[in-house]
This record gives sequence, structure tokens and C-alpha cells, in this order.
Amino acid sequence: MTNVVRSTCPYCGVGCGVEVRQTESRGFEISGDKQHPANFGRLCVKGAALGETLGLEGRLLYPEINGERLEWEAALDETAHRLQAIIDEFGPKAVAFYASGQLLTEDYYAANKLMKGFIGAGNIDTNSRLCMSSAVVGYKRAFGADFVPCSYEDLEQTDLVILVGSNAAWAHPVLYQRLMQAKQQRPQMKVVVIDPRRTATCDIADLHLALRPGSDAALFVGLLNHLQPSLAETTFDGQTAALDIAADWTLEKCADFCQLESADVQTLWQWFAQANRAMTLYTMGINQSSSGSDKCNAIINVHLASGKIGREGCGPFSLTGQPNAMGGREVGGLANQLACHMNFEPADIARVGRFWGSERIAETPGLMAVELFEAIGRGEVKAVWIMGTNPLVSLPDSSHVAQALAKCPLVIVSEVVSDTDTSRFATVKFPALAWGEKNGTVTNSERRISRQRAFLPAPGEARADWWMVAQIAQRLGYREAFHWQHPHQIFSEHAALSGYENNGIRAFDISGLANLSRAQYDALEPVRWPVTEQGHSPFKSWHPNGKFQLLPVEPALPQASADHTYPLILNSGRIRDQWHTMTRTGNVPRLMQHMKMPLLEIHPRDAKRYGVTNSGLVRVASRSGGMVAKAWVSENQLPGNVFVPMHWNQQFARKGQINSLVKSVCDPHSGQPESKQTAVRIQRW
Ligand code: SF4
Repeated sequence: MTNVVRSTCPYCGVGCGVEVRQTESRGFEISGDKQHPANFGRLCVKGAALGETLGLEGRLLYPEINGERLEWEAALDETAHRLQAIIDEFGPKAVAFYASGQLLTEDYYAANKLMKGFIGAGNIDTNSRLCMSSAVVGYKRAFGADFVPCSYEDLEQTDLVILVGSNAAWAHPVLYQRLMQAKQQRPQMKVVVIDPRRTATCDIADLHLALRPGSDAALFVGLLNHLQPSLAETTFDGQTAALDIAADWTLEKCADFCQLESADVQTLWQWFAQANRAMTLYTMGINQSSSGSDKCNAIINVHLASGKIGREGCGPFSLTGQPNAMGGREVGGLANQLACHMNFEPADIARVGRFWGSERIAETPGLMAVELFEAIGRGEVKAVWIMGTNPLVSLPDSSHVAQALAKCPLVIVSEVVSDTDTSRFATVKFPALAWGEKNGTVTNSERRISRQRAFLPAPGEARADWWMVAQIAQRLGYREAFHWQHPHQIFSEHAALSGYENNGIRAFDISGLANLSRAQYDALEPVRWPVTEQGHSPFKSWHPNGKFQLLPVEPALPQASADHTYPLILNSGRIRDQWHTMTRTGNVPRLMQHMKMPLLEIHPRDAKRYGVTNSGLVRVASRSGGMVAKAWVSENQLPGNVFVPMHWNQQFARKGQINSLVKSVCDPHSGQPESKQTAVRIQRW
């Protein structure tokens, strides 16, 4: 055995610490890092199998343009030349970057700086748009800042945990293990699961509310009404309007709207009102909705109104899907943010311009993910750089994404894998470093910054994403601003910008990490932000008047509804052993054992009605597309609803993918697609 390298798992937003040891047979043994505060040594099956994903089979190892291998210098020169030609002829808004929660913070920072700071357009968005952008809107509206007011430790100190729209047992397994242990140690702690499906997460639930899909907001608006007699007068901005709307949401109306028993709804409300400490954990079932932002605010409202926030064991806790969704939020990876949680406001634009030494800062938000690919389809965006993500599989309406990319004059794909659904449309392919080869930082759901450390050499000519961005930037004429030699320099710059002219007006501040030496950066222990020279600042409102905001929320149902032609509602989500579009986990035989092909989970009543038998093949079709899946007849599913996993890419699912079925209906505030709700029909295949 050689030295141990401490790093962070590259899969979900729990952000578990791992230890990597080389074995005598030159393989790698992965174990949980007992010192990491996210997991204290635990790993789930995906994290434990990381050592089996390190092979070079299928890797993209050399730069290519139009399928021809080139030296880096030639590939970078040619790509920069083509980008510059498009900018010169059509302006900066004709160029866009589409990034990923898989990128490290340093990569993300570099990409955002080039696009918003020097190309001068807001057009960088990320696949995190599909995951938690509604949660960002919710926090910003309530607190004036994108601040997650919870930590994992809170789970060990609370009296009530409400999981809503979250199958944490499969999607955030180590967090679920912590919750399970907390429940074993303190059985009096209550757990409520709000989810139309009976999932593995329900195994520890004291109460499962299998509500009508998409009706969640009503439970929290009604709860606000239930809390009303105990509220102080006009503590919050928006309080009167929020309570006026809530007043209509009586117990009977909520139960009817959510198709639940009144007694169960009342139990939830009483438990919440009586608990000294309560947490609400939410994820895609809330965020991936045409009213996802409002649902988030409905949840935050009850925590603010009841004072169950800003103290131990309390708070509305958005769980992020990806390892660095939070890092993307920090650097400005979302098209409607600038950098370091700054906004497209004159003071912030000027501040970032001073710091970067640029007079070309974008002054308006760019295109959000779905809009971005629509603009490519209309020919308005003529060059897109897709970094570490596979939008052909992950975006809704995937056939339109394919048509858009087929028409786009310049598609740059920086990737680890040679042949992905998306890279088939690439003009330029840049070989990127994979987990184990890259070096930098990520931020997990509880705002904890951890190091990903390299323990493998770069294979072939693969390079870090930040390096590629810097090389292109230098060729576009921005040599001074992109002179970095090591990710440590980028992290220092990012940390310095977070504290630049801050004076407590922005929540995100890690200026206490701005002057780390290279050795200190290499040895950086996991740390939760903010990290300022004055120490950690308390939870507060960042609205200019210092008050929290209760948002008036009128519960709404999803836009898609079943009809005579498409009588079932399709829900999509993660399964336990796969990650995203399977480009990594799909290559691990033991992870494929859990589910070898996409399953369509269906209630026995519907199975009988449509002549579907367990394990039989089923064709499922919407107005947009279709796919084939294997039936799993189960009473865990509500009648009238079916569930299919999101993961299968073309390599694994030759009979279609789920996102060809899903329409691009988005939340108007966050731009997040309603991936949880599609009207479909099924037939035996
Ligand atoms: Fe990795 Fe998430 Fe599993 Fe932790 S819970 S080991 S971060 S996939």
C-alpha cells in the first residue's frame, strides 16, 4: 500500500469524503473518510465502487476537430479563431457555455469569468438549472441571498424531519443513513415522507403522505394557515398577503386538493406546530415543477413563521443533486447570477468589473438551459461549449436538443468520454480530466467546501477544464486575466472576489481562504462557508431592510394532466445504483445488477387495465416521444401514475430515452423544467 489520498466522491450533493489507497495489484481501494464531517466514513454503493470506474476504456484522450486528431496548440488556435469570428460577426450573445455540476469550482470560475467578464454575455448556464434553480429562487426571495440555513448535524438534533419530493434513501444514501441512525438513537424523532410513490425512504417514516403528484404546496400553505393564531403581527415583509392567501386553505380544502385523508394532513400540521425543532428536506420532487419556486417559498414560509430556522435542528433544507451544484451557484454558473452570488445590478457589475479589470462585464442575465438550446435551434446562438455534461440525455424534449445541435455551426464538447449522445454532434472535442485526475474544490448541500485531489496522472493529452478555458481566453486576447498555472491560484482569486467590497452585504464570503499558500490549499480540510477573517457570520436577512420575506403562494397543480389520449402521469427520477446518464456507473457490472434496463413502475390496477404483466416489455409514449421499458408492477405506485428512471443513455437504451417524452415546460422564475410530470399512454410491446 502507498500513501492515502483524501478526496471527495464525485456523485451526489452529500459530498462524502473518500480515502484512496493503491493496492499491490495496482488497483485502487476506496473507503469512506472517517474524518470527513459529511459522512464520517460511510459510503453508499456508488461511492464504494469508484475504484471500478478508473479504467481508460472509452476515454477521450486527444483533441479532435471534425473527427480528426490534432495537437492541442492547433486545436486551441482553430477553436479560438472560430469563436472570435462568430463574436465579430454576430456579437457576444451568439456564443454560449453550458456547464455542469460535475465541474470543480475552479473550472466553473474560469468559465464564468471568460463568458460574463470578457466575452461580455451572460450566456453561461449549467445542468444544475435542471436540479435546484427553483431552490435558489426560494432562498433569494425569502432571505435576500442564496443561503442554505441548515447542516447535516441538524438531523441529529431535530424533533421532526419532513422529506418532501425526496427519495433520499436512493438519491442521497449517506444522508439517509445518518437520518436512519438518528431515528434509531432517538425513536421519538418523527419522520414524515411526502411523496406520491412509496419509496425506500418510507421505511423509517412515521407518516407517509402519498399525495396527488405536484400538489405539495397546498400542504405548506395550509400549514401556514394552521400556524396563524400563534404568529406575531407583521414580523415579515409580505406577511399579510401570504396569510390572506393561506386563510383559504382550510384542512378540508387541502386534503381535497392533495387527495389525502384529512386526519393525515392534520397529523402533519400538529406535529410541525408542536415540535420544538423541525426540518424540511426537499429536492427534485419540489424543484422540478412549473411552480417549483413557489413550492420552495411555501416551505420556507412555515419555517420563518414558526421560528424553526436559524437554530440547531431547524430549517428548510434544499438537497442538491450534484457534487458541485453549490460551487456553480457560488461562482455564477447560473445565467442569471454574476459571480460570488452577485447579481446583474449596477453596483455588482461595476464591482466585478473593477476586480477583474474588465470593461466588458455582461450587464444582463443570459439564457437559461432550456431557452439556450431553443436559441441554438433558432440559429441565434451559433457557438456552444458544453462542459462535462450530456444534455442530449438530461434535458427535456431531447429530440429538439438534437435538432438544435445538428444545426449549430460550432459545438465544442469538453468531455471525459469519447462517444456520448451529445459528443456525436461535436465539431470540437477537448479531452477532459476525470475524477481521480482532477484537482480542486467542490461544495456540498450544506455549504461545505471539500477538496477533490488527484491521485492518477493525466491520461493521453487530457487536461483540466480550467486550463482549456484559460488557453482559449488567452487566444481571444485576455492573457493577463487568465494567467493561472495551478487551480490554487484560481481558488485564491475566487475567495478574494467573494470578500471584495463585501462588508457583510453578501452572504457568500470565503475571503478567509483567499491567502492560503499552495501547501495550505493542498491540505485544506472540509469547511462550511461563510469563512471570513472575522469568523463565521450568523444567519440573517440580506434584504436591504433587514427583514425576511414571506412570499404569498397560491398552490398550483402541474401543467401536464392526464386526458383521454394520454391517461397516465409519468414521473422520473434517480435509482439507487446509477448516476446521471450512466457514462461512469453504467460501466460497473455490480452497479448494473440492481436494475439492468429501465423499469416502468406501475400500479397493479393499471397493469391489469392495460394488459401489462410484471417483467413484460411496455412501450410508453407522450406527445413528444416514446421509449420501451420493463414493467414492474407494484403497489408502491399510485393508480394513474407510472415511474421511469432518468439515467439510460443511447448506449444502454436503444429503444428510446425518457427525456424524449418530457416537454420543456419551465418554472417562470427559475427556468427549471417540470421533469416530474408528463402525460403518457402505455401499451404492451
Ligand atoms: Fe457519493 Fe453521494 Fe454515495 Fe456519498 S451518498 S458516497 S456523495 S453517491
